[in-house]
This record gives sequence, C-alpha cells and structure tokens, in this order.
Amino acid sequence: MTIQSVRGMRDLLPEEIARWHHIENTLIEVTQSFGFREIRLPLMEFTSLFARGVGESTDIVEKEMYTLSDRDGDSLSLRPEGTASCIRAAIQHGLLHNQVQQFWYHGPMFRYERPQKGRYRQFEQFGAETFGLESFTAEAELIQLSAAVFDALGVRDDLRLEINTLGKPADRAAYRLALVAYLQPFASQLDEDSRRRLDTNPLRILDSKNEQTRAILENAPDFTDYLDAEAIQHFAGLKNLLDILKIKYVVNPRLVRGLDYYTHTVFEWITDSLGAQGTVCAGGRYDGLVEQLGGKPTPGAGYAMGVDRIVLLHEALNGETRSEAIDVYCAVMDVAQFGHAFEWCAQLRKQIPGLSITLYKSAGKIQKQLKRADKSGARVALLFGEEEVSKNVATLKWLREDKAQQTLDFAALCKCLGETS
Ligand code: ATP
Ligand code: MG
Repeated sequence: MTIQSVRGMRDLLPEEIARWHHIENTLIEVTQSFGFREIRLPLMEFTSLFARGVGESTDIVEKEMYTLSDRDGDSLSLRPEGTASCIRAAIQHGLLHNQVQQFWYHGPMFRYERPQKGRYRQFEQFGAETFGLESFTAEAELIQLSAAVFDALGVRDDLRLEINTLGKPADRAAYRLALVAYLQPFASQLDEDSRRRLDTNPLRILDSKNEQTRAILENAPDFTDYLDAEAIQHFAGLKNLLDILKIKYVVNPRLVRGLDYYTHTVFEWITDSLGAQGTVCAGGRYDGLVEQLGGKPTPGAGYAMGVDRIVLLHEALNGETRSEAIDVYCAVMDVAQFGHAFEWCAQLRKQIPGLSITLYKSAGKIQKQLKRADKSGARVALLFGEEEVSKNVATLKWLREDKAQQTLDFAALCKCLGETS
C-alpha cells in the first residue's frame, strides 16, 4: 500500500508553481508598497486563543479545527486563520501602545471542511491588518490595497466589492433581538445550522446559503434601521472616500461576518467565475477583538485573501502560464570534464544573478546531451568536451533561436548570457 496525501491537503507541483510565485510576489510587493510590514506567526497556538479570538459559536471553532493535546496535556490547534495570532503576538510584544501598526502575513491555514474546488483543508491566506485607527480611513486603505493587488494580478474586472456596516455592539444587540423575534415563528422551517444559531449566533443566519432560509430572510428587519448616528457617519465616510477613489462597491445589507467583535465595516471581494467558492477576500473592522484577547482596547481592521482561490481565478482568466524554465543547461561529454563544468557553472551563477543553470550530472555523447537539453526547456545548452577544457572555453548552442553555435571564453560567455537573461 502506498501512502497518499491527506484529503483536502494538496501537493503543488513544479508546473503550477510559477503562478503561485507570481501571485505571492505580487501580493508581497503591493502590500509592502502601502507600508505594511510582515509578521510571521506560528502554525500552532493554544486552542483557547481561537475559541476567544474567532468565537465559540462559529463554524471554525465548532467543527473545523484540527485540535490535539500535546505531551504536556495542553490543547493546541493548527491555526484556522491569522488574525487571532496576529493580535496575540502584537499584545505579547507590546506593539499596540499609542501607535498605528500595519502588518501582513501569509501562509497555510487548516480547517476540517468538505474539500471541493476552492475549498481545502490546508489552504493559504494572505492577510493585512491595521491597528490603532478608529477612522474609516483604515478600511478605505485596506480596500484600496486589496483593489491594487487585484489590479496588479489582472483579475479586478472579474470581482465585485460588497460592503456593509454592522454598526456598534449596541446597535447589533438591538438588531439581534429584532431578528430573533422575526425568525422565531419560522424556526421549524430554517435549516439545521440556522435553527441552532437562533440561540448562539443569530446574525450569522443572514449569511446562510440555504435557499429556504434565504427566502424567509427576504422580509427580515433591516439592519440600517438599528444603526446609530455614529455608525451611519462612519459608513458614509467610507463610502464617500471609496467614491472619490472611484472604487466601485455594492452595499449588501445581508453581508455579515457573524462574530461579536466585528464593528462597523465588513467587506468581501467576490467573483462569479468560481462557483460557490466565490469570495476571494473577506475583511472588516473588529474594534472589540484586541480587548477580547486581553489587550488594551485598540481599534483594528483587516482582511484575509484566499490565495488558492486567487490562483484558480487567475488561471480561469489568464489560462496557462509558462512554467519556470531554466535558462542554461550544461552538460559534459566525459567525467574528466566535470571539475571544469562545476566551476564554470558556479562562477556564472555568481556573475549573473537570477540566471538559472542546471548541470546534468552524468557524462554522455553530444547528441544525447542535446536531446536532454532540449527537453529541459532551457534556452541555451553549454557543452564541455575535451577540446573546450583544454582551450578553457565553452560551446554554446541556442536551443530556441535560429542562431549559430558559438565558442566562447568565460568573459565572452558572461557577456552573452548577461545580455539574454
Ligand atoms: P467561506 O464562507 O467560503 O467558508 P469564510 O467566511 O469561512 O469563507 P474567512 O474565514 O473569512 O472565510 O477567510 C477569508 C478567505 O479565505 C475566504 O474568503 C476564502 O477566500 C479563503 N478561505 C476560507 N476557507 C477556505 C478553504 N477551506 N479553502 C480555501 N480558501 C478558503
Ligand atoms: Mg468557512
């Protein structure tokens, strides 16, 4: 019996990696250009961090976490998301006092879900968080940043931005009562999760994907009627700034993040190109969260992008990308030439940063070596035989262009490869 990978945990093979590198590099570059700095966080935390930081009555904590007890009997969980760890670290290292902080992180997250296209048990998130700003300018910039990322990746036109406000905790408490009062008579017609949430987390019902539940919600009380002046002003400020920035959005009053600590803005970037797994970025303001995790009250806002889904979208819109081919394929005719070839390769790598050279590590006849070189996808083959070594030169053959073979000394070779790379 061969051992397979765990369901929902994928291998990403070299042919697919070019797209991942491109997307990750773009994410990092654009995010850094907004002055956000990277924070690296552990893959495991105490389970209690997520229970408090994500919420006891959320899908994630109720049924999606990979939890184990370690040898000391501590309950640890693989991280299902990054915000809780980010805040834990910021509190632990005293990074939140009287200052604005802007962090980004990326890496694998783990949730025990039903695997399908765009939904995996190990997936990658790229997150950005802003702490210490009460103003809507924080959300505006996060949205501008996410838009800039999607622009740079050429996928923005396929995405729509949905925004909503959840107001302040008091507004939400009042709305929660009204929503429960409205839904109670329909309790038996709600889907199972929603029925359970009627007690634990009724706002999250607004997010239900069940059709019958959605139909019942059509006539539910409108959240806007429960917002106080400050919440309305905050949301108006954000919308106005987005208008000035010409960032299009749709206000979706059904958009909730369902967690108690969310305040004011929530937003999502959604595509119709990926079926049910259409949300590629979700975020919002969570002014209560730092305090909930034991820190001094500190406003915060942030988002998490689903990199796997962005990769799928990029693929759907842009088709194949070229895999990351090597530039130079180097081969020798006889074992006696290896010392020479190893040294030339090492020097070339030093002289021309970014050039990728693969040295074929068995000697062989020229025709065979050229066949292998061609198959490798390299642009040029570099060949060393007895004669090359004795004259201290290399034979360069162009594999993709109709150019004559050249015999070059090291300096001439550097010049030639430096110009083409
Ligand atoms: P969904 O409703 O799709 O389950 P969510 O509300 O659980 O999403 P968040 O916790 O807000 O998702 O995570 C932010 C983003 O991370 C999502 O919008 C999505 O792009 C991505 N994401 C979440 N769970 C997964 C998963 N299991 N596989 C791949 N990507 C995911
Ligand atoms: Mg989920």
